Amino acid sequence: MKATLLTLALTFLLTHLSLSQDLSVLVLTGGHGFNRTSFFEMMDALPGIRYTEMAHPEAREYFLEKHHGEFDVLIFYDMIQDISPEEKEGFEKLVQKGIGLVFLHHAIVSYQNWDFYRDILGGRYIENKGDPAIQSNYKHEVAFKARIVNRRNDILNGIKDFDIYDEIYGNVWISETVNPLLSTKHPGSMPILAWTQKPYRHTRSVYIQPGHGPEVFSHPMYRKILAQSIYWAAGK
Ligand SMILES: [Zn+2]
Repeated sequence: MKATLLTLALTFLLTHLSLSQDLSVLVLTGGHGFNRTSFFEMMDALPGIRYTEMAHPEAREYFLEKHHGEFDVLIFYDMIQDISPEEKEGFEKLVQKGIGLVFLHHAIVSYQNWDFYRDILGGRYIENKGDPAIQSNYKHEVAFKARIVNRRNDILNGIKDFDIYDEIYGNVWISETVNPLLSTKHPGSMPILAWTQKPYRHTRSVYIQPGHGPEVFSHPMYRKILAQSIYWAAGK
């Protein structure tokens, strides 16, 4: 009897603890369409992650100081240019204080004139139609291989080189300060497909280029990398 009670108490405690340890994630969307069904099917399948979606312009409200501390990790799956000086300042303060940041796919096109965002993400898809030498480019429905670069990062636990079918970006500016995770030899693609940075003591950021979908959203390796990126960004 005592053992049963103890087991019950332990089970309760463990369940309670694991629930309270769920990461709280804000998914920022807006400015670019995506396959909502397959994207959120993937998000629902990520273990230990509770998320809220916010579309712009409301999403940017969460950069303001009054909302700091509400989320462990921000996932950027948006593509926009508009932002107020107050929202910029709020985001910069948040990043200096400490936050987990995961940038997906087209989030690298956002805020072309905000270099702080570019540096925290670690790269920029450059929009400059007047200068073809620096304009970045894209190609849909490409089959390519993602290769492991740095096995020491926890994000790649259990990950092997894998085949992928998604959109590629080419001629993208990538900061020399990023720590590459995945690369590809596809000649049309940016050579690094995913990377990490620790821009401030309590802030970690990850960028993952694949993510147009829908094929990639059901890929077990992609889901694992995304989940592990969220944990890593949160310092877990
Ligand atoms: Zn895309």
